[in-house]
Amino acid sequence: MKLKELVAELNELLRLEDFPGDESANGLQVEGRERVRKVALAVDACSYVFKEAARQGADFIFVHHGLIWGGVKSIVGTLRERLRLLLEKELSLYACHLPLDAHPELGNNAQLLKLLNLERRGEFGEYHGRRIGYWGELEQRMSVGSFAALVEERLATRCRSIDFSGYVKRVGVVSGGGWSAIFDAEKIRVDTLLTGEPSHSAYSLAEELGVNLIFAGHYATEKPGVLAVGEYLKSLGLETVFIDHDTGL
Ligand SMILES: [Zn+2]
Repeated sequence: MKLKELVAELNELLRLEDFPGDESANGLQVEGRERVRKVALAVDACSYVFKEAARQGADFIFVHHGLIWGGVKSIVGTLRERLRLLLEKELSLYACHLPLDAHPELGNNAQLLKLLNLERRGEFGEYHGRRIGYWGELEQRMSVGSFAALVEERLATRCRSIDFSGYVKRVGVVSGGGWSAIFDAEKIRVDTLLTGEPSHSAYSLAEELGVNLIFAGHYATEKPGVLAVGEYLKSLGLETVFIDHDTGL
């Protein structure tokens, strides 16, 4: 497939234009060779991933966290080294941040709901003026401990969980560093917030609102969307490889 065609396909599929306020420069960040046969997918753009992608013969790398955030002011140090790795091997880098969290089918949050047997009920968790997560319901109430065990099993992760309501039924999900979605918990009336990174700031608010907190890891909650994009690209006839560089955080 031609690079230009692949980029146009992804830009449209992932609805990049819906997130003009995202700090991440979403889309093609580094242009590599003209033809793409093999796509490497990863959560984070970093030297390990670039080296591994080159070793495995990829032409194009798809990531959730790219290299370009805000404006680039200089190309020195780790950024220089990362760019050197890409340019030397003629590897393209494509990043998709908030649009991948929010995508209604392939997104991290939509995929998390599916993995955890949550029936989707609506959008959840405002970030920069729009909701990027979803909330859903379990068929039956579960204890916080059993739900956390389900999350650990399905996401192959370790959870930090704090029980403030005694049970789990309505769960708001925002991947990554999504703790501020707690502000939406009162409006939507969920009993549980599932996000990635633990946040001290969330504790007292959650306690006062009676909302359980489940922190399942930034990496673990942002891998499902990347995997779903990989499946989609496979269906286009591209060879794909997922580079699992788990931070455990
Ligand atoms: Zn993230």
